[in-house]
Amino acid sequence: MRTDYSEKQKELYQNTLAFAQSELQNPSAQFNRERWQRCADFGVLGWFIPEQYGGTGLSITSTIYALEALGYGCNDNGLTLGLNGQMWSVQEPILQFGSEQQKQLYLPKLCSGEIIATHAMTEKESGSDSFKLKTTAEKVSDGYRLNGEKTYLGLAPVADLALVFANSNPQAGQWGISAFLVETNAAGVEVSQPMEKMGLASNPLGAIKFQDCFVEASQRLGPEGIGVSLFTQSMDWERGFVFASHIGSMARQLDQCIEYSRNRKQFEQTISKFQSISNRIVEMKTRLEISRLLINKIAALKDNSEPAMLEAAMTKLYVSEAFVANSMDAIRIHGALGYLTEHEVERDLRDATAGVIYSGTSDIQRKIIANLLGL
Ligand SMILES: Cc1cc2nc3c(=O)[nH]c(=O)nc-3n(C[C@H](O)[C@H](O)[C@H](O)COP(=O)(O)OP(=O)(O)OC[C@H]3O[C@@H](n4cnc5c(N)ncnc54)[C@H](O)[C@@H]3O)c2cc1C
Repeated sequence: MRTDYSEKQKELYQNTLAFAQSELQNPSAQFNRERWQRCADFGVLGWFIPEQYGGTGLSITSTIYALEALGYGCNDNGLTLGLNGQMWSVQEPILQFGSEQQKQLYLPKLCSGEIIATHAMTEKESGSDSFKLKTTAEKVSDGYRLNGEKTYLGLAPVADLALVFANSNPQAGQWGISAFLVETNAAGVEVSQPMEKMGLASNPLGAIKFQDCFVEASQRLGPEGIGVSLFTQSMDWERGFVFASHIGSMARQLDQCIEYSRNRKQFEQTISKFQSISNRIVEMKTRLEISRLLINKIAALKDNSEPAMLEAAMTKLYVSEAFVANSMDAIRIHGALGYLTEHEVERDLRDATAGVIYSGTSDIQRKIIANLLGL
């Protein structure tokens, strides 16, 4: 844990922790709009957004620290992932690439909880190979006509806005991809029901279909044809920070394991005295600290407006795998109790598993890292 946080940062951490522990307990079995609103009212969604767009303009380092407190205090990983997903994969690209009008129109509403947004890249036939997308944005008078279907989108079933990647010049291949801000109540947009899945119950996953959906030219995010660059740059943020609150989840999980192992007795001694158990806890602690350091490193880079593509891929790879490994260790430490749904230890493993898939699988992060190392 860093020791150089300012009094103001520590105060925000403590206030966020107290808020999460008192108002965000017991994960919902489905998306809970009231809880989302409580988080928005507390200011979470606007922490790193400048004041003129409805936020509080905190540094990324402060935001990451507060998001950790949120994850420690709130055991609803689906909710914290949803908040982080919207912040890093939609709000940040709007902030970075949006026109003044787009920023004024959408950022204050996203920060206040008035609207919710999803990031729509994946399609059935293009997951890891995302730039092979088939959704088209045919140019028409004053705008574009979107056709295609996006799927496996976090928050899609409850989203009012989607950041959609579509090809406006298929002859140019991936260099024809552009990004659009599409309101989900527009004509020609159909949003699916939530898909059944193994974890993250409160973060609904869904598909969005576009059938001759007209979008005005002013809804394009950034210049035409910059979709690949926009997506790649926004992935620095998403991969770097989407686990910010899961660091808090891992810290909470570790404390629970330490507590349990100090109290559970077998063979007339607490199980913490068995080296098999203490080694497991040591590994959990080490993975947690490395995860925290990686995220903090990217936060420092971003506070200095520096790129972090390599760091973001390493962070995504390491932290997602660390959360799965720690969740499995937590179950082993708790024995049968860890396997019981009622005891809630197993839920972290179900939630963590998705992390090695979304925002690019672990295999894809390894591919990116290898490419950047010139391999
Ligand atoms: C909970 C959750 C939330 C999500 N949220 C969103 C969202 O908000 N927006 C969005 O657009 N998408 C979202 N996704 C989709 C996610 O980004 C994709 O599922 C992911 O990119 C993988 O694509 P795929 O599922 O088609 O798997 P595939 O690409 O078909 O991969 C299948 C397997 O092949 C491996 N593989 C593929 N290519 C390579 C390669 N070149 N080298 C090595 N191995 C390879 C993969 O690692 C994987 O093991 C979400 C997914 C989940 C599970």
